[in-house]
Amino acid sequence: MKQTLTKVREIKLFINGEYVESSENKTFTVKNPATQEVIATVHEATKADVDRACRAARAAFESGPWRMMPVSERSAKIRRMAEIMMERREEIARMEALDVGKPYPIAYEREIPRAAYNLTFFADFMEQQGGETFPMDEEYLNYTRYEPVGVAALITPWNLPLMLTTWKLGPCLAAGNTAVIKPAEHTPMTVSLLGEIAKEAGIPDGVVNVIQGFGANSAGAYMTTHPDVDMVSFTGETTTGKTIMKSAADSLKRVSFELGGKAANIVFEDANLEKAVPTSITAAFMNSGQVCLAGSRILVQRSILDAFVEKFKEAANALKVGDPQDSKTNMGPLVSDEHYQKVSSYLEIAKEEGATLVAGGKRPELPGYLKDGYYLEPTIYVQENPQARICQEEIFGPVVTIIPFDTEEEALEIANDTEYGLNAVVWTDNLQRAHRISHHVRAGTIWVNCWFVRDLRAPFGGMKKSGIGREGGKFSLEFFTESKNICIALK
Ligand code: ADP
Repeated sequence: MKQTLTKVREIKLFINGEYVESSENKTFTVKNPATQEVIATVHEATKADVDRACRAARAAFESGPWRMMPVSERSAKIRRMAEIMMERREEIARMEALDVGKPYPIAYEREIPRAAYNLTFFADFMEQQGGETFPMDEEYLNYTRYEPVGVAALITPWNLPLMLTTWKLGPCLAAGNTAVIKPAEHTPMTVSLLGEIAKEAGIPDGVVNVIQGFGANSAGAYMTTHPDVDMVSFTGETTTGKTIMKSAADSLKRVSFELGGKAANIVFEDANLEKAVPTSITAAFMNSGQVCLAGSRILVQRSILDAFVEKFKEAANALKVGDPQDSKTNMGPLVSDEHYQKVSSYLEIAKEEGATLVAGGKRPELPGYLKDGYYLEPTIYVQENPQARICQEEIFGPVVTIIPFDTEEEALEIANDTEYGLNAVVWTDNLQRAHRISHHVRAGTIWVNCWFVRDLRAPFGGMKKSGIGREGGKFSLEFFTESKNICIALK
């Protein structure tokens, strides 16, 4: 099925309750990664536009009704946002598939409903929150209040645009803060709708602002230094996190970062391969491997290495790579030319490092209209040396490395021998081993005999260079609230 465009979308900024153009009439274009057709012209926020958005968010916070509104009323409006998203589910999922190049069914079945649930979850969760009391004998009573912090800059990446943005926007709004949002320059479409959806849901003007633009020396950087911004919640690359932390330091903004990963997916000889193989395939190739949680280092016990490699290769070769708008497609293209070049450079590196190519490693055969798409086959290497660059660096594409190991100790050592610590996966039927490994792998989330199962109350985030802070339930609220102590003299 060929995705024929009826129009090139014009994407404006949403500031203080209305769509506005770039103040200097600056625009950039976005391409469909499956075909390189131009799909959108985007207004780029100038420094003056970012300033306007941040000041609008500040004014809405200070004077506006939002933070003073009863929680039940605020939560109802946030839930309404989620409902509108679900009413527009098909349109939004189409946009996400077009912009990112991800298969439409994944956007429709999983990501858009989850993006909506991120909002309802935090709206409901906030209504359940209380505070503490700390009585001091009979003389004084302390009690706590959890108050909003102020203006949040929410900066998100291109791999799961709407889902990752609402994951921040939900708790941000539920706690009574106001927001300036910037999606990634490659994927502005779905996030650009959040301002109008908020307005339609009855959220006051200035509470949700959406700007568009690039990172360094552009809109992103202006947000992270703006004096009206109190906090930055960011998901993206580790190097970008370092830059943002430096620029946020001068104005002492609080930061919450979810950064890169290089998850170990450890398969022991007692694992159930009927489950381990298909789930490891999803963990490796979902969203073309452009997921920070991707199980990109598959550690396999040597006694089952051949059996695993055979089954894994067969399953990878069976994936249908193609048009993201086609419901039979399992894997689409990479997001951009620049990213395609980066991922492809690892094919050369793998060769130089002496890795064994098991599957993929080239462009797939595709119908003519996809000839310019940024496509790469699901690619598998076996590499004995865990120090090799393909075992250490985040490739963020459909390229996985299988690393053999002999003992549990060795598996643990290899798993922890990385600068990242976002998540890990363990496949074993041995209960004690499952717990032992889970306790000793230095990562924020360990999935045992499963992958990417998320309870939104649970903490999510990374150790080491994979992040700062945690998101999810009360962990998100810790970031988006100020805890205040009030001490009353009783006598
Ligand atoms: P990814 O490669 O996953 O997009 P990036 O870290 O490059 O990761 O980008 C994630 C988000 O961070 C994007 O919205 C991007 O525009 C933004 N960004 C990049 N550099 C900066 C920066 N120096 N300051 C603020 N935001 C930035």
